[in-house]
Amino acid sequence: VLEAKSHDKQVKLILIGDYSVGKSSILHRYCEDAFWPKHMPTIGVDFRTKFVRDGNNTIKMQLWDTAGQEKYRTVTSNLYKNTSVVLLVYDCTDLNSFDNVANWIKQIEMNVSEKTIIILIANKIDLENRLVSTEDGEAMAEAYRANYFETSAKTGQNIDKVFDYCVENIMNYT
Ligand code: GDP
Repeated sequence: VLEAKSHDKQVKLILIGDYSVGKSSILHRYCEDAFWPKHMPTIGVDFRTKFVRDGNNTIKMQLWDTAGQEKYRTVTSNLYKNTSVVLLVYDCTDLNSFDNVANWIKQIEMNVSEKTIIILIANKIDLENRLVSTEDGEAMAEAYRANYFETSAKTGQNIDKVFDYCVENIMNYT
C-alpha cells in the first residue's frame, strides 16, 4: 500500500453531468470494480482518492463526484478550482442529458484554464434503447475541445480506458 506522502503529483478530477447519468456508478466501477443496480443519490459532493502508478511516478488522484440532483446552474465555481480533468457525463439513452451537454460545457469553460482536460462520456452503452448516436457524441466533443469516450459502468466497458487516458495526459501536462 502506498503512503499518502509518497506520491509525486496530486491531481483533481471532477465528474459532472445531469442527475442519474451514472457519475457515481462510473466512479464506483473504477475504484471498486463493482456496480450497484439501484440509484443512490450523492448527497453534496463526495470524493475518493486513488493512487495510480505511471512508470516511476505515483499520482494521487482526487476524484470528485458532484451531487447528481444539482442543476448545472447551481454548481459553484468553487468545485472547479484546481481541476486537471473534467469528466462530463451524459446517458446515451436520455436525450435531455445530451441536450444539456452544451450548457455544462459553457459553465466548464468559464471556470477552468485552457490546460484542463475535458472528457465527454456517453455512458450506459450496454442498454438497447440508445437515443444518442456515436456520431452525435463525437460531433459534440469536436465542437468543443473535448475528448470522447463511450462507457458502461454496468459492464465496465471502457471505464479503465477513460482513466488511463487521464493518467497519461496528466503526466504529459507539466
Ligand atoms: P448519478 O446521479 O449520475 O451519479 O447516477 P448513478 O451512478 O447513481 O446512476 C443512476 C442509475 O443508472 C442507477 O440506477 C445506476 O445503476 C444506473 N446506471 C449507471 N451507469 C449505468 C450503465 O452504464 N448501464 C446501465 N444499464 N445502468 C447504469
